[in-house]
Amino acid sequence: MTYSFLEGQKYQCIACGRCCQNWEIHVSKEEEKKLLQRDWKSLAPRISGVEAVVGDGLLLFKENKCIFLEPDLKCLIQAKCSYDEKPLSCRQFPIWVTETPEGKRITPSFFCLAVLRNQGVHLKENPELSPEAIAKFAISPVKLPINLLGQASVDWNEFRKYESEFFSILDKKDLDLQRQIIAIYHRGHEIARAKVNNREIKPLEESVSAALKETHVSEPTKARFIRAIFLVFIEEATLEKGKQSGSSFAFSFVWQTLKMALEWGSIRISALGHEFPVIEVDKVPFDWKDPQLTELLNRYLKNLVFRGQVLTEQGVFRGVSTMMIAFSLVVWYSRFSALANKRPKVSLEDLETGVSLVEKLFIQHTKGVQKLVSEGLFSILLEILMARQPVATSLVLF
Ligand code: SF4
Repeated sequence: MTYSFLEGQKYQCIACGRCCQNWEIHVSKEEEKKLLQRDWKSLAPRISGVEAVVGDGLLLFKENKCIFLEPDLKCLIQAKCSYDEKPLSCRQFPIWVTETPEGKRITPSFFCLAVLRNQGVHLKENPELSPEAIAKFAISPVKLPINLLGQASVDWNEFRKYESEFFSILDKKDLDLQRQIIAIYHRGHEIARAKVNNREIKPLEESVSAALKETHVSEPTKARFIRAIFLVFIEEATLEKGKQSGSSFAFSFVWQTLKMALEWGSIRISALGHEFPVIEVDKVPFDWKDPQLTELLNRYLKNLVFRGQVLTEQGVFRGVSTMMIAFSLVVWYSRFSALANKRPKVSLEDLETGVSLVEKLFIQHTKGVQKLVSEGLFSILLEILMARQPVATSLVLF
């Protein structure tokens, strides 16, 4: 069996305990049954007062931490039972496996501290990711043919061609990261439009240079944007009362963005537990020439291209939109983090906060975000933002 890994990405667990805190951990019915059969009262007096360590397919969390996370950051299930008794999602984190016609693709989550910092050994050489270990992981198959934008689709080989184009744009040394991102976005949509209308696809270089000149936004685009806001609003209104979901996040994000689009920067947005006027966030510089910052962002974006984001049912170029959202949100959250920590400009630490928040959002709220992407909302939003401040700062707004 063939495996492919993203070049240059390293990972080896440093037992930081990050993946056992601040989110939900899903378990299967069998895993739940097994865990409930254990006598936790005698195995671990620390949790003897707890009624059930697992329920409704979720591990119990206390103060945002998994009940099995020991103070020394070791896993109690592993220590008292066995490694194999740990739920699959714990054993597998931070790795995703996608089945493709060329074999399995192995991609990591950037919520993991070791992945984020590129610590450890190359994925390919990691003993935790041996073929035997991977064979036990959950595998998501690629749906073929791959959907471009609903009306056109491509086979695997063609998809691979576009994927390598996106990589080559991310490797262009003469373009800074912001321009690379804009070029990918335009290239993706240009290919999709050409496919739908049965037109010839322009050569890559021609398309990239055209993309960097285009900053136009049309009235129909604005109308679609407002329509999309209402669709999100309807979805929000039908949510179970009090239940947190991706769409509530998405709704507030979109709503604030609409206000921002209309008033150009005079509202307040909360993030990381703080409230700041957008105008202040805009003032925190993100140094696009800082090699540490751009290395991390470039690695993260390559991972997004390589992993399921562009291989799933939502379609290849909606995948490109998802990548754009991720990029914009990362920059946005990094700036909030810098502001909250009173740093004069975005530091590597702020960027790490931004990436991990976005990864968490994508892992936990995929449905809400996918819905937005499927409405094309973010591509419209991006067009508006780009029209506001051409190329240089359009994406930095976030
Ligand atoms: S977040 Fe990564 S490095 Fe930290 S414990 Fe989990 S898998 Fe290990």
